[in-house]
Amino acid sequence: MRTENAYDAIVIGAGHNGLTTAAYLGRAGLRTLVLERREIVGGCAVTEEIDAARAPGCKVSTASYIASMLRPEIIRDLKLADYGLRMVACDPLVQAALPDGQVVSWWADEARMRAELERIAPNDVDAFFAVQTELQQLAAYLQPFFMESPPDPTRRGLGRLVELLRIGRRFRRMQGKEMASLLRFLTGSLGEFLDQHFTSEALKRLILANSLYGKHGGPYQPGTAMGLLFHLLSGGEDEQQGFMGHVIGGMGSITEAMAAFCRDNGVQIVTGKPVARINQENGRVRGVTLQDGSTIEASLVVSNADPRHTFLSLLDEADLDSDFRQEIANIKMAGPCGKVNFVLSEEPRVKGMPKTHDEGQRSLFTLVPSLQEAEDIYNSANRGEFPQELWVDCVLASNVDKSLVTDGHHVLTCFVQYLPYRLNSGDWNSERDRLGDRVLERIGRYAPNVLNAVIARRVYTPLDLEQTFGITEGNIFHGDINMAQLFFMRPVPGWADYATPIQGLYLCGAGTHPGGGVTGAPGFNAARRILADRR
Ligand SMILES: Cc1cc2nc3c(=O)[nH]c(=O)nc-3n(C[C@H](O)[C@H](O)[C@H](O)COP(=O)(O)OP(=O)(O)OC[C@H]3O[C@@H](n4cnc5c(N)ncnc54)[C@H](O)[C@@H]3O)c2cc1C
Repeated sequence: MRTENAYDAIVIGAGHNGLTTAAYLGRAGLRTLVLERREIVGGCAVTEEIDAARAPGCKVSTASYIASMLRPEIIRDLKLADYGLRMVACDPLVQAALPDGQVVSWWADEARMRAELERIAPNDVDAFFAVQTELQQLAAYLQPFFMESPPDPTRRGLGRLVELLRIGRRFRRMQGKEMASLLRFLTGSLGEFLDQHFTSEALKRLILANSLYGKHGGPYQPGTAMGLLFHLLSGGEDEQQGFMGHVIGGMGSITEAMAAFCRDNGVQIVTGKPVARINQENGRVRGVTLQDGSTIEASLVVSNADPRHTFLSLLDEADLDSDFRQEIANIKMAGPCGKVNFVLSEEPRVKGMPKTHDEGQRSLFTLVPSLQEAEDIYNSANRGEFPQELWVDCVLASNVDKSLVTDGHHVLTCFVQYLPYRLNSGDWNSERDRLGDRVLERIGRYAPNVLNAVIARRVYTPLDLEQTFGITEGNIFHGDINMAQLFFMRPVPGWADYATPIQGLYLCGAGTHPGGGVTGAPGFNAARRILADRR
């Protein structure tokens, strides 16, 4: 098959960012084609059956599972509620089951949180609220950068002045003390910060549970305090700071709603079509070649795939400058996470879960290590070992959403960190079951009834995340979230504004500013840049 400019734009990948970009391009009247390698749309935001043979009709958010920073602008512009999106705020936001048999909760409501702190951390109550207020204020300074291109220090002349003014305006109200705090949060270590400000072990674990999600780095490593700020960025329909939501129907409901908006705006979405090559001629993009050998032409191609895959697999070595290729090859990936999804015959009875908790309040529990244990687990995984202990974040989605299960069943989705992408002995194909067993064994220590309640399970090692979702080295954010890979350095310095060295080729995925998570922000910013360039 060879088509001649039947499309103005081709988007490679139907992850939520690819769909967001396609939606805005389609709405602007561009004939847009989305090509997705999997049979379903959604990328890492999908809802799928766990095991169609053993538990037909029991579905779960296969990969990402909590919507925290999905941008309200996108919810509104793409009319996602009209296309069926419904989110229920997580309350508690986070809940940790501790080895001493307590369950501690982080409530959104201040009075309720105060009462919880008086029970678990009476000496830290005032410090907790003081830190919370400071973080909220600092996060508000960063928030506007989310939905615009990152500052570009490489610009010259008038452009440079405009950039300086833009950044200056964002920080004009910032006091010197706040600037120092912001830098400390962006560069400091989470562990040291928590040790300096709090005494309660239970509180430190609770905060840890919410702050290092998917991160390459133990809590005592520099740069990990940044997670405290990122979790206070806003999201959800009502733009709440620190919003976390269960999505009814699973995370796939977000991307199905986006796809429906796309189709209604003339975008064609084709699944089961892996792109094998991006074609360019004299530094200008010409279209793509699919794995089946067919070619589709377009003068605008947008890649939702991560930067490593886009530049190192879909383009030839000769297509790019060698320094640029090297910068791309240096992006830190090595995904440190996995996922295990279970269908259960009964609800886990977590030791210490308060009797007063209703079904929804029992829907989340994190088995979070202490700060030092987390550091040790990270170091062990970083050496390529299968860690002795695992940090497991559990969400019992069926307690909030019965549409995910058939009668009498439960679905439990478990995020696991830290794991090595590369094992130094054996490989993930032979260690997959061990991971599933170890996760089950860890949950069983806190909710023993789970051990005999498993009907089906599906294990995703870092290698499985790579192969299933097409994310290089299984990195859930398309590149680690650290200061060296953020803002004008994401994906690489000089190319943070969605354009690439190939004219007409753009990036729109989580590997670009402002980074990973189901936010839609990279897709939104990329579409704005592309439309501006066309004007
Ligand atoms: C296990 C896991 C748990 C997570 N938990 C959360 C969470 O709870 N909350 C949260 O906010 N975030 C979470 N995340 C992170 C978040 O899901 C991702 O950062 C985000 O979804 C990335 O979106 P994206 O659209 O940029 O890319 P992706 O979702 O990765 O989509 C890229 C798409 O491109 C397709 N593609 C790649 N190469 C090609 C090709 N050659 N041809 C055609 N198609 C191609 C892929 O198949 C994929 O569909 C999690 C991620 C994982 C994996």
